[in-house]
Amino acid sequence: MVYKDFQNLRLSALGMGTMRLPLIDGKDEQIDEAKTAEMVEYAMNHGINYFDTAWGYHGGNSELAMGKVLGRYSRESFYLATKFPGYDLANMSKVEEIFEKQLEKCQVEYFDFYLFHNVCEMNIDAYLDKQYKIDEYLTKQKENGRIRHLGFSAHGSYDVMKRFLEEYGDHMEFCQLQINYIDWDFQDAKSKMKLLKEYDIPVWVMEPLRGGKLSVLPEKEEKTLKTLRPEEGITAWAFRFLQTFPEIKMILSGMSDLKQLKENIAIFESEKPLNDDEMKALLELAGDMVNGVPCTACHYCTSHCPNGIDIPAMLKLYNEHIFTGGGFLAPMTIQAIPEENRPSACVSCRSCEAVCPQQIKISEVLADFVEKLK
Ligand code: SF4
Ligand code: SF4
Repeated sequence: MVYKDFQNLRLSALGMGTMRLPLIDGKDEQIDEAKTAEMVEYAMNHGINYFDTAWGYHGGNSELAMGKVLGRYSRESFYLATKFPGYDLANMSKVEEIFEKQLEKCQVEYFDFYLFHNVCEMNIDAYLDKQYKIDEYLTKQKENGRIRHLGFSAHGSYDVMKRFLEEYGDHMEFCQLQINYIDWDFQDAKSKMKLLKEYDIPVWVMEPLRGGKLSVLPEKEEKTLKTLRPEEGITAWAFRFLQTFPEIKMILSGMSDLKQLKENIAIFESEKPLNDDEMKALLELAGDMVNGVPCTACHYCTSHCPNGIDIPAMLKLYNEHIFTGGGFLAPMTIQAIPEENRPSACVSCRSCEAVCPQQIKISEVLADFVEKLK
């Protein structure tokens, strides 16, 4: 196992995410605890020492299951991370109640890592709102030893992250981001990582395989990668990409069975960062894989929209939604936008289309987006 130094700790470079644990009868809330215990035992025996759960995973049962399973090991033998569920605004005023419950569910006296969960467009105002005293409460828990390291995870845009960092960046110790070779450009992970560097905040990675999508590639892409590194499997490329960046200290993978776990651990027996040519080829291939609306974000169209729709932002989100095959990101982001500026506010006047150099049929795309979000 490759290890990374973080302050005075030695973290396994691969951490076990627990949002896709093995299930009974395919039901998300029914975790197969026997299989989970088997995976955790294998993980611990093969050097993984970091486990990442959250209030909402598996309908709240991930924390419970991990509490039970990890309870068999000495508290010093693993690092446990969980998060404050600010993805639901109804939780904002309940930080103390939720935190106490989380300790109980996880059967621990302290969390090694604790995160503001999912900082994004929808909740940034609330996270920054002092009336909820979230940061104040969590900082206090850190002072009294019940949180060892405080950080945040983010699915929001660069600007949202910037707002969060301007307020709390001086005491955030780590940030968990969705980074993989698709999202490097697609979700602007590159700029977000640069922003974190400015604050000297180390990076934790989530969705390194984009929900498993990067474990199986189309034939053409697979051939390209095989030519570059014949000995490397397709999944390994996603991890080798991340191993190229020294600021990444933790890569979390939500593994669902022992086979995946064994494969991933084998990859992390060594670090094999990409060279410049390999990186270039991989990012080119990633660009080809994202077949969406070819908006270049030139913004020529935006001043022409009578309803102030941020057209390039909506098209970017549309592409994300199509590529992911649905998912929570687009609905969540759109919910945070005033109704009069949402895709549904498009009146098909086509003023934007008249100036679009890419000749995108914007009104049709927005109408399709509205349909897909139903
Ligand atoms: S077609 Fe829709 S998006 Fe384009 S300018 Fe008109 S209202 Fe705005
Ligand atoms: S004019 Fe066309 S390419 Fe430019 S931002 Fe608008 S939709 Fe995108």
